[in-house]
Amino acid sequence: MTFNHWVQGSSPCGPTTNSPRAVRGIFFDFLYLLVYHLVMQKYIDAHCHILSDESIWPAVACGVGQFVVNATTPDDWGKIVEVSNRDNRICGAIGVHPWYVSGWNDGVETQMSELLKNNPRLMIGEIGLDKNHPDLDLQESVFMRQLQIAHDFGRIAHIHCVGAWGKMMDILRGRDLPPAMVFHCFSGAPELAPELVKLGAFFSFGCGICDEKHIKMRDVVASVPENRILVESDAPDGAMPDKIPEIVAEIAKLRNVEFEQMADIIYNNTMGLLNGGKI
Ligand SMILES: [Zn+2]
Repeated sequence: MTFNHWVQGSSPCGPTTNSPRAVRGIFFDFLYLLVYHLVMQKYIDAHCHILSDESIWPAVACGVGQFVVNATTPDDWGKIVEVSNRDNRICGAIGVHPWYVSGWNDGVETQMSELLKNNPRLMIGEIGLDKNHPDLDLQESVFMRQLQIAHDFGRIAHIHCVGAWGKMMDILRGRDLPPAMVFHCFSGAPELAPELVKLGAFFSFGCGICDEKHIKMRDVVASVPENRILVESDAPDGAMPDKIPEIVAEIAKLRNVEFEQMADIIYNNTMGLLNGGKI
């Protein structure tokens, strides 16, 4: 990948080729991309679970300047709060993921409220429903409680929903909701999007959309409102965040928009969301 390839609209982090090139040329290409992307910081990873510099640095070199880091259990909360307070590239979210709701109790709720009170930039996540995991009733009650806390503290909620869209919509309708909700790796039907938008939803897409077998998911990418599109890695379980430019390129292709234009739209969507949520 050279700078010329990149300005023509390809992803800056695409697969390398085996074409013979002088080491010096490769070095200067790399240096240029590095400096350019560091200056530009044109991507934001809207959902991941990583905090280490080793994991973040390759993405920073690809222009990913900020990372929304979600918790899965209260064990993550202390580290997320500490890192997000000292590193302005990290936007932290604390929550109990639907796979781990058995750990929810009054003490956990009190701890969550205290951390939110003391850290006004902190968001709520990852919370939600997952039909493929046990205790759906417990998942529902823990999700509703965390959603209410997100509303009460005026924080954005980062939501996981797998195979439970009927229940999700029933919960969201007619209830106090957070100022905005990010549906990560959005997998709902396109017909749900207009109602979700009215409720304050953003739709975040990951590397799954790059697989041509995921026809429904790719249809959704093409049809949701442009101003609600975000991009994510879900690292370390999805891709690593240095794949973000490739995902943006795929979204641009599916929506028939220039890569640069799509990158700008998604960046501005994410910045607007994060500022609107008072982080
Ligand atoms: Zn996640």
